[in-house]
Amino acid sequence: MKEKDKIAQLRSELAEVGRKAFKRGLVPATSGNISGRVPGTDLVLVKRTGVSLGDAEPSDYVLLDMEGNVLEGGKPSKEVRFHLGLYRARDEVMAVFHLHPPYATSFAVLGRELPVVTAAAEAGLKTIPIVPFAPPGSRELAEYVMEVFEDQSVVAALMARHGIITVGPDVQTAFYRADLLEDTARVGLYVAQLQLAGTGLSGSADGKS
Ligand SMILES: [Zn+2]
Repeated sequence: MKEKDKIAQLRSELAEVGRKAFKRGLVPATSGNISGRVPGTDLVLVKRTGVSLGDAEPSDYVLLDMEGNVLEGGKPSKEVRFHLGLYRARDEVMAVFHLHPPYATSFAVLGRELPVVTAAAEAGLKTIPIVPFAPPGSRELAEYVMEVFEDQSVVAALMARHGIITVGPDVQTAFYRADLLEDTARVGLYVAQLQLAGTGLSGSADGKS
């Protein structure tokens, strides 16, 4: 496939999956940003700043090189630093999702580790580290993200007082990991509530009974 066609295909895929993420409630308003690496190239498409993932068209994804030079499109998201950093650091990463889903973000606000309570989460996400807080869009935040994802086994992380990041070998996988991460947080919260409510359920909620 020609490079031009690969870029067009990735643009459509990002727009479609970005809308899905918005509809799933994984990202409000114009926050969050997603990106993909054009297969077989050193080119990346990142959502432009100021547009909602729920509305972003294929043309709302900005084409950049690995140094962050804009080749096509408008101004990229302010979090472009850690997107590019992740592609540079890990060859297998082909997509990066940064979202603000409410359940996972609640754990992130408290800086509380997300309990990996289900078998699906354990298999799909393994451990979920927390990236320390730094202002959104800052160089410092990008550095903290890089430190956490230096561990090649990390595919999902919480960001203190902010949101989440997932990576994947393709756009769909990065999206599914974000969806699974949010679901894990939702289940974790329900489990904690049920424990507090003392429902008389037999067995412990951590499955170790
Ligand atoms: Zn954010």
